[in-house]
Order: sequence, then C-alpha cells, then structure tokens
Amino acid sequence: MKTLRRPLKSLGQNFLVDQNVIGKIIESAALQPEDQVLEIGPGRGALTERLARRAERLLLVEYDHALAENLTRSYADNSQVTVVDGDILAVDLSALLGQGPARWKVIANLPYNISTEVLFRLEEVRGRLSRMVLMLQKEVGDRLVAPPDCSNYGVTTVLLGLNFDIRREFIVPPGCFHPRPKIDSAVLSFVPLATPRAEVGDEQIFRRVVKGAFAMRRKTLANCLKSADLSADMGIEALLEECGIDGRRRGETLSLDEFALISRRLTAMRG
Ligand code: SAM
Repeated sequence: MKTLRRPLKSLGQNFLVDQNVIGKIIESAALQPEDQVLEIGPGRGALTERLARRAERLLLVEYDHALAENLTRSYADNSQVTVVDGDILAVDLSALLGQGPARWKVIANLPYNISTEVLFRLEEVRGRLSRMVLMLQKEVGDRLVAPPDCSNYGVTTVLLGLNFDIRREFIVPPGCFHPRPKIDSAVLSFVPLATPRAEVGDEQIFRRVVKGAFAMRRKTLANCLKSADLSADMGIEALLEECGIDGRRRGETLSLDEFALISRRLTAMRG
C-alpha cells in the first residue's frame, strides 16, 4: 500500500508496526471462517491483510479519505471486503451490520481521542456482536477492568461491565507504533453477555444513577444522587435506606449490583 503522507495526529494515527503485536491481536480475535469482521480505522492496513485472509466478510470504516481510497484500490478485486469512507461516530452502525445472528467481530486499534465514545456506540449494537478486540489507551483499559473502590473504577467500568465480559489481553508499549505515542496502550477483549449482568429496570435511569454517583468524587453518594435529577419522590436518603445502602458512602464503593438495586427501586417508583 503506498501512502507516505505524514500521519495525522488529529485522527489519532499511530500505526502499528510490530508484527508480533499484530499477530497477538489477530490471535485474540479467535477468528472462525464464518466470522464477519468490522475493522474500525484500518489506516495503512497493518491488521487488515490478515483479517481479509481469515474472515468471511470484512467491513472497513476509515475516516481518512486518502487512506480509505488506498484500501478501496487494494481490495478492489476482493468482493468479501467493503470499505466505508466515513466517520465511525456518524455511520449508521446497525444498518451496516444488518439483521441476523450475532456473528460480527470488531477489531480495532482505536484512535485514542474517540475511544470511549466508540465503545458506547458499539455497546448499542452488542446484540449483533460475538466478540471485540480493541486496542485502547492503557489508562482507559485500566478503568474498564477495575474493581469497585479503586481510583480507576468509574462510569465506564459499571456501564460497560453491565453488558460485556471484559478482559485485558496484553500491554503494548509505544515502540510498537509509528509514530510512537507518549503512553502505553492495552489490548482488551469484550464478549457481549446474553443477558445483562444485573437487572437494572429502566436503562436510562441506571445510566443517570451511575453518572450521578461518580459526578463528584469527594461527595457522599446521597449528595451526588441528590444533584442527579432522579426525581425520587420519597427522597434519596430514604430510598438508599430502603436499599440497605449507606448514603454516606462514596459512589466508587458501590458494586454493579448495588447500582442496579437503586436503579430498580427508582424504576419501580416511576412505574
Ligand atoms: N489500524 C491501523 C493500525 O493499527 O496501524 C491504524 C490505527 S490508528 C491508531 C487509528 C485509525 O483510525 C487511523 O487510520 C485513523 O485515520 C482512523 N480514524 C480516526 N478517526 C476515525 C473515525 N472517526 N472513524 C473511522 N476511522 C477513524
């Protein structure tokens, strides 16, 4: 593939150049011949070639017009590969993935600046996915696998942990990319759960509870939730008491099940 233009920082273009890491990412995807694969940000195609050889179908979404054109040219003769010249945050993902059983795998070395947003987009179409293998900023990865009551535990841990089994596969140092990023990266695998890990009632309420609980880390859970516009008629303190949760705790000490309990109670009150 020919493109010698300088990588664009604005698009998070840190291209993978380490063959060992590329091989390990492909291995973590555990590809089967019947798999359909979505690669987000294929860039110069470091992972793409190997994916094209193994998947039944490969869908590439690349925002950099010049790189998307190169890929279109490279795979012009391969009817299994489709290139979408576009923004992963703007494309209609459910239309692209279509209907049918959960057969898609998502593989990506994500641009750091949009990785969390992309994760929530992918969460929306989790019913169509069988597995995701994603390279993220190490710090973002640390948050996704953090246990309660530690500084990395936060909104993304709880919200994504509800619907995925998330595992850190390995760490990738800056020297594996060109240009080198300033920080370490991590490859994580995500397996969508058939049913959410906990019954939360209304998912919008659950999201509001979780975001509210972490909004002011130095305040108590009760104070955080009071500012979270949850319209709890009985009052937050009474509601927490009914759930058996001490309102003086900090949000970050709550388990997923405890967030779910509060959310279910609030949902029932609306009901
Ligand atoms: N997969 C390649 C690799 O591993 O070498 C490139 C990874 S690089 C970290 C991120 C890629 O995502 C770049 O090719 C960049 O142009 C592309 N990209 C950035 N923003 C994007 C977006 N919103 N939608 C789709 N692709 C995007």
